[in-house]
Amino acid sequence: MAKTIGLIGYPIRYSISPYFQQAALDYYNLDVCYDAWEVRPKDLEVTVSQLRDFQYLGANVTIPYKESVIPLLDELDEWATMVGAVNTIVRNKNRLVGFNTDSYGFLEALYQDGNFDPEDKRVVILGAGGAASAVSFALAQKKVKSITVINRTLGRAQKLVGRLEHFIASQAIVSGRSAIKLNALPWQVLSSHETLSYCHLLVNCTAMGTRYGSLEGDFPLGSDVIPAGIMVYDLVYNPPLTPLLQQAQEAGASILGGLPMLVYQGAASLQLWTGADAPVSFMMGKAKEALQSLP
Ligand code: NAP
Repeated sequence: MAKTIGLIGYPIRYSISPYFQQAALDYYNLDVCYDAWEVRPKDLEVTVSQLRDFQYLGANVTIPYKESVIPLLDELDEWATMVGAVNTIVRNKNRLVGFNTDSYGFLEALYQDGNFDPEDKRVVILGAGGAASAVSFALAQKKVKSITVINRTLGRAQKLVGRLEHFIASQAIVSGRSAIKLNALPWQVLSSHETLSYCHLLVNCTAMGTRYGSLEGDFPLGSDVIPAGIMVYDLVYNPPLTPLLQQAQEAGASILGGLPMLVYQGAASLQLWTGADAPVSFMMGKAKEALQSLP
């Protein structure tokens, strides 16, 4: 009997994960279907609990459920526990185990596609949700010099910084000989030239600029406040050149979009469900093809 892997999110109409994940499963001739499930908040609990059935290998979890899915699972691996967000569920007998492969995908793309080593660098992160958490914990582990979290809801940025502080202390992480500096700031600071003046890497972890989304065409800050020479990394993958990346390019910054991260995190999830080494370049090709075929 064919097995199933689900993608749980809302909305997910324009997600390209089903396309490149199914292609990878077919590449290995696995009798597995990767299905997109648009799940309304009231149906989340029932949908997750169905994954305990023998038919399912697990699921991917995307916006907006990466944090709210946690209480519905039986177990979390160590990294997902630290990060506080789950993007992959694996069924182990009748137990559901949560993982976070976003951190891995983010770093892999940063090193491989951005050619950027974050050690000892000053980083500014926009957003304080599940993606921002995965990104900031990954960067802390790589010993950046400082992390500034800027979010529309300041309290959420402060909470993330508090959790980072605890993580850094518990792991005894230092950058060079000093402690990693952490800061939470309100969204309004983005209009100031000062905010990014010492920054090496800016990461957008909000959905701003996403094609077909409610924030399509928007960007968090303009070319006038982006210093030339920094790296601007937008987790949004559609469009490939987001409004923020256009501003960054105009300012003379280096740019990296969200597509490689999407593929690397997906490849890591595939490995967790099937045990097979994911055909990463093949998946990357299929992801690009899928993006081009969207209306
Ligand atoms: P989330 O948990 O819902 O967090 C969304 C964040 O965006 C929050 O910090 C929120 O601020 C902020 N935000 C929402 N509307 C805003 C607005 N109008 N102005 C300013 N800030 C706003 O979502 P998530 O899971 O972290 O995902 C964030 C983005 O990353 C999504 O676009 C997702 O597709 C992308 N992502 C990409 C990859 C990839 O592989 N490329 C992986 C993961 C995520 P408040 O706290 O104030 O609400």
